[in-house]
Amino acid sequence: MEKVLELIKKYNRIILFGHVRPDGDCIGSQYGMYYLIKDSFPKKEVYISGESSEYVGFIGKPSMVDDSLFKGSLAICVDVATNERVSDQRFKNCDYVLKIDHHVVVDNFGDYNLVDEKAPACCQIIVEFYQKYKDILKMSKECATALYVGIDTDTGRFKFDSVTSKTFNSAALLLEKGVDLSYIDNHLSIETLDTIKLRGYCLSNFQMSDNGFAYIKMTREIINRFGVSDEDAASQVTSISSIDTCPVWAMFIEYPTEIRIRLRSRGPVVNLLAEKYQGGGHPKASGAHLDSWDQLDDFIKDADKLVKEYKDSLK
Ligand code: AMP
Repeated sequence: MEKVLELIKKYNRIILFGHVRPDGDCIGSQYGMYYLIKDSFPKKEVYISGESSEYVGFIGKPSMVDDSLFKGSLAICVDVATNERVSDQRFKNCDYVLKIDHHVVVDNFGDYNLVDEKAPACCQIIVEFYQKYKDILKMSKECATALYVGIDTDTGRFKFDSVTSKTFNSAALLLEKGVDLSYIDNHLSIETLDTIKLRGYCLSNFQMSDNGFAYIKMTREIINRFGVSDEDAASQVTSISSIDTCPVWAMFIEYPTEIRIRLRSRGPVVNLLAEKYQGGGHPKASGAHLDSWDQLDDFIKDADKLVKEYKDSLK
């Protein structure tokens, strides 16, 4: 963490990068770091580059920064495990790359990498960084709100088993900095009528393999029929998370050139299965993709085997 502070002090221009299809922890980490640096060192130029997310757009919406800004800058890539998942690949044009992340390490692409695989959210690492240097750093209410949203969303509202007392200590600190819980919950919980209707569709039409792998095929046709965004459609993976006989579940979302898989578990480790299908992630929340629907049966077979082995091990 000392190195992180040293780098922030050294560079006058800092650009924050996240991952493709950013989630709450990614946007929360980008904005949390942005405010932390800006409020503590007001003379520094700080930018946020990359994609935005409607779901957590109330924190802020990054945009693509100008080409001329990269040379001479420090790139800070947050919440992203691998080089190719950084949403703006121009981060490579910066003078120095610092990665701050909480995913399983597969690619130490930064010139310096601060990774805590045990942290349930990248935002928690940033709170711990603040705690360590709180005599030097300043944390505003906006900063605390962004970081809280990251922890809240990446822990499934503080319920995943990666949550520890450190997570609650971080949340407590953020509340002391002025986080308004009902403001955040209103933004995270309110859904459009179309999304709620899509959830009804998902609950009625999900499928199950013989041993209990539950899945939803989210085709383009369904997304268009319900008139929802890709992000809202993808968020419905949680709609089948509580089926007692299905400890692993997934959503397959059709994009123009690939089928994205959102894979979840409350028992078996799924990141190795994700790695087999060009993905990765955490033991109980991973992502991967298929090149076409032709590969779906193979994936279902592999996931079904994983569930069977898990259930057998419990007997
Ligand atoms: P998601 O379903 O997109 O929320 O992803 C769940 C977790 O898996 C996140 O921590 C992602 O960073 C990770 N992940 C998703 N897709 C990929 C991928 N293609 N390669 C590596 N990790 C991924």
